[in-house]
Amino acid sequence: MSLLDKIVANIAPHDCLGCGAEGALLCRPCLAALPPLPVPLQPHGLLYRVQARTVYRGVAKQLIWKLKSAGAQAAAEVMAAGMVALLPAGERPVIVSVPTATGRVRQRGYDQAQLLGRQLARQARLPWLACLARSGQLHQVGANRQQRRWQLHDSLRVTQRRFVRGAHIVLIDDVYTTGATLEAAAEVLIKAGAARVDGLTFAYTILE
Ligand SMILES: [Zn+2]
Repeated sequence: MSLLDKIVANIAPHDCLGCGAEGALLCRPCLAALPPLPVPLQPHGLLYRVQARTVYRGVAKQLIWKLKSAGAQAAAEVMAAGMVALLPAGERPVIVSVPTATGRVRQRGYDQAQLLGRQLARQARLPWLACLARSGQLHQVGANRQQRRWQLHDSLRVTQRRFVRGAHIVLIDDVYTTGATLEAAAEVLIKAGAARVDGLTFAYTILE
């Protein structure tokens, strides 16, 4: 898709993915109707709190697909609007996007978690900090769970350390699958001096 196509896709009026009404990519009633998780997520590793707005299926799945293709900006706006209420009330955390594997970013031309995190920070009027970098390709084939965990951990690097020290960070990603990436990111951030790290994603994959 050309850059022009991408721009047009973001300007052109959308049809609501839920009800078909013309206007937004997902209208307000349809956004509000996205089901919350059946049970709250449990914090794990060094994550203080973990949350997801909805389950990864139906409209939510379509939104995530959009975030990775044409209409990415519109999708990020809608998803962020659905996540704002899940930010810790009365606190001023720093928003940090979980970096997507570099190969996929190169292929797509942008990092979808970064797009989402920035949009959320803008809507919530919170600072967004690019303090995590991901290097190298993971060689997950044949690696067991523990090995994958270490590979993931090794590929994440903290930058901007002086802003990380003592900070309350909310890590943002589009989809929560195993939670391994969030957990590895929390670990390197706490090690770099962060005071508290939460995880917040738009969707949560219920493994069947
Ligand atoms: Zn609708």
